[in-house]
Amino acid sequence: MSNAKGYAAHSNTSGLAPFSFDRREPRPDDVSIEIDYCGVCHTDIHFVQNDWGVTNYPVVPGHEIIGRVTAVGSDVTGFKVGDVVGVGCMVDSCRSCSACEAGLEQYCLEGMTSTYNDEDRHDHSVTYGGYSDKVVVSERFVVKVPEKLDPSSAAPILCAGITTYSPLRHYGVKAGHKVGVIGMGGLGHMGVKFAKALGAEVTIFTRSESKVAEAKKQGADHVVISTDEEQMAAAAEHYDFMLDTVPVQHDLNPYLNCLKFDGIHIIVGLLEPVDPALEAGNLVFKRRVLAGSLIGGMPETQEVLDFCAEHDITCDVEMLDIQNINGAYERMKKGDVKYRFVIDMQSLKAN
Ligand code: ZN
Ligand code: ZN
Repeated sequence: MSNAKGYAAHSNTSGLAPFSFDRREPRPDDVSIEIDYCGVCHTDIHFVQNDWGVTNYPVVPGHEIIGRVTAVGSDVTGFKVGDVVGVGCMVDSCRSCSACEAGLEQYCLEGMTSTYNDEDRHDHSVTYGGYSDKVVVSERFVVKVPEKLDPSSAAPILCAGITTYSPLRHYGVKAGHKVGVIGMGGLGHMGVKFAKALGAEVTIFTRSESKVAEAKKQGADHVVISTDEEQMAAAAEHYDFMLDTVPVQHDLNPYLNCLKFDGIHIIVGLLEPVDPALEAGNLVFKRRVLAGSLIGGMPETQEVLDFCAEHDITCDVEMLDIQNINGAYERMKKGDVKYRFVIDMQSLKAN
């Protein structure tokens, strides 16, 4: 075992504070990583506050990890010391079910092992995330960061990026398609970049007039103010896909009506019951599809990093010292970040 430093929450009211813990001895298939950067995801806040009632304290969040390889186990073939690598939302799965065999480990029939607040399948230790100086992860769940990508702004690709990329790829978004992206936060702004790079005509749906200029800057072809009934009526039956990144309950019905017949509404942000209720007729009368999608498998997580390098796509980030993490959470709750905080893990050394 080796001693690791990080930041953990000890209760749902404690906020995050320095924490010392052990990382496991590397197994033959493990890669040891010194962490340089870790993105800050809304999911981290939910776990720190125990919003979903499943948090085991102390919890060390962080699942947008970028670092350098410091050691590899004897069975590791894909990585060597010095490689710049990434670790996303999962660190293990059963590896043998139909989902895992298809490279869709996020849908593992036995459940994936999350990067933090989960239990290691082999030694039953607790998994701790990337708000720390090092991590040990099985090779299968480590991806290569292409040289062309700036490592700090690449971190959010591992969650916000893959979450929006995977469904666009799965449903074959391409030139000629009209894609609506609902919400313009960490996920939404990546969704715009990917849909554009895939050749689609992209419209941002946002509640606030103040985001119009910013949406255009992000590459959106059009902006629809979703609170403006006239604009929503004009958008009816226009879109092949709606990528819904909104993480809180919202009325899906007006957006369903924006889809053409056979159009697909893809939920990637919401995990709660749909409220207000869905008018099933909005699906039935136009053969529309309501779909959901969760991150992406390991092959696709590598693919999205390579895609970003090829198309010069980066996440817009604001760098953060870990000592300021609690203040950053407060700003995120108000939507006050463009568009992702990334912790510079060098700051941990100042503790
Ligand atoms: Zn995340
Ligand atoms: Zn599996």
